[in-house]
Amino acid sequence: MESEVYPVAIIGGGSAGTMAALRTVLNNQTCILFPGSGKDKKKSRAFWVAKVENVPGHTRYKKGIEEPNKETLDWMSESKFKANFIWKKNRGIRKIEKDGDLFILTDDKDQKYKAEYVILSTGLMDIQPHIGGDFKLILPFANMQTIDYCLRCDGHHTFEKNTSVIGHNSGAAWVAIMLYERYKNPSMKILTNGEKPGFDETVSKLIDLYGIEVFEQEIEGVVGKPEEGKLEGFILKGGKQVVTEFAFVSLGMMVYNQLATNLGADVDDRGFVLTDSNGETSVAGLYVAGDLRADGKKQIYTAWDQAVDTVDAIDARIRRNYREIMLKKD
Ligand SMILES: Cc1cc2nc3c(=O)[nH]c(=O)nc-3n(C[C@H](O)[C@H](O)[C@H](O)COP(=O)(O)OP(=O)(O)OC[C@H]3O[C@@H](n4cnc5c(N)ncnc54)[C@H](O)[C@@H]3O)c2cc1C
Repeated sequence: MESEVYPVAIIGGGSAGTMAALRTVLNNQTCILFPGSGKDKKKSRAFWVAKVENVPGHTRYKKGIEEPNKETLDWMSESKFKANFIWKKNRGIRKIEKDGDLFILTDDKDQKYKAEYVILSTGLMDIQPHIGGDFKLILPFANMQTIDYCLRCDGHHTFEKNTSVIGHNSGAAWVAIMLYERYKNPSMKILTNGEKPGFDETVSKLIDLYGIEVFEQEIEGVVGKPEEGKLEGFILKGGKQVVTEFAFVSLGMMVYNQLATNLGADVDDRGFVLTDSNGETSVAGLYVAGDLRADGKKQIYTAWDQAVDTVDAIDARIRRNYREIMLKKD
């Protein structure tokens, strides 16, 4: 185990983790950042995000989270604050334990580190639909963002497009309803992929009013040319093809909360970690920022804002301790 005690350890190198590292370093505090192994990155939302159009200044990036984050981390490691920034590239954290007031972190190479405060920003992943027994058929279209997951990020892509929502509960139906109300899509469908629809009364009324078609058959195939960014439709069990130029998946999320729950942090009924307004969990000194946190819009800019509040709260605690020591000396 390293003897050094890091004031702040940040786990996750997506939107929240990168902003947390930037804010810490600019506050002239030292932080150690674990952005995750290749495997961690591949199962993060950040990895799958292509062009970002709802954050000013982001449209020039092909990978709207990874590229600006990499630029920022590179800048920090060359800036005049570089001594504050310990960047453990490609390292993920597998275990966190408490030893008195300190946290002991174990990485995927079994190395251990000590930290006073931990910021967890490991994010989440959207649940994929199984089509023809697998989710792999979806991925080329998801890569080109003709099949998408985030209404607030990419809802505008459905403008003038025949659109489908894959899902079976009222939440999925609300995605279809909201899209239709905003964009008056030429057609709107809900594909339940073999599940019984679980729509409440209001949702069922609106589906009828807006002429949203509901198909309950399993989806067996996807039609289109992903390399050209073109989705054309889905093939349903029995051979029927439904015309779709853009699809949303609304099946819920897998929340990467294991490091927090292993420490005993409280989570809500969906697995999101409960915190106070600065992001501190029920475990003293353990903070959460980004999609993993129970509140917020699950967006890049909310992850940034949460990370800044969290880091500033930690900075205030560190400075308060320092101030008390200085005043006692006086
Ligand atoms: C298809 C798609 C498009 C989107 N488009 C937009 C958009 O246009 N605008 C917008 O504002 N938002 C968009 N979002 C939402 C946005 O991606 C998230 O809100 C944002 O990435 C959340 O940041 P985060 O840091 O919480 O998680 P992420 O950015 O997902 O980062 C999680 C990080 O945790 C790391 N990690 C995981 N486990 C470990 C571990 N054990 N140890 C160390 N590291 C670990 C991963 O490697 C990764 O670096 C989109 C999401 C999707 C799925």
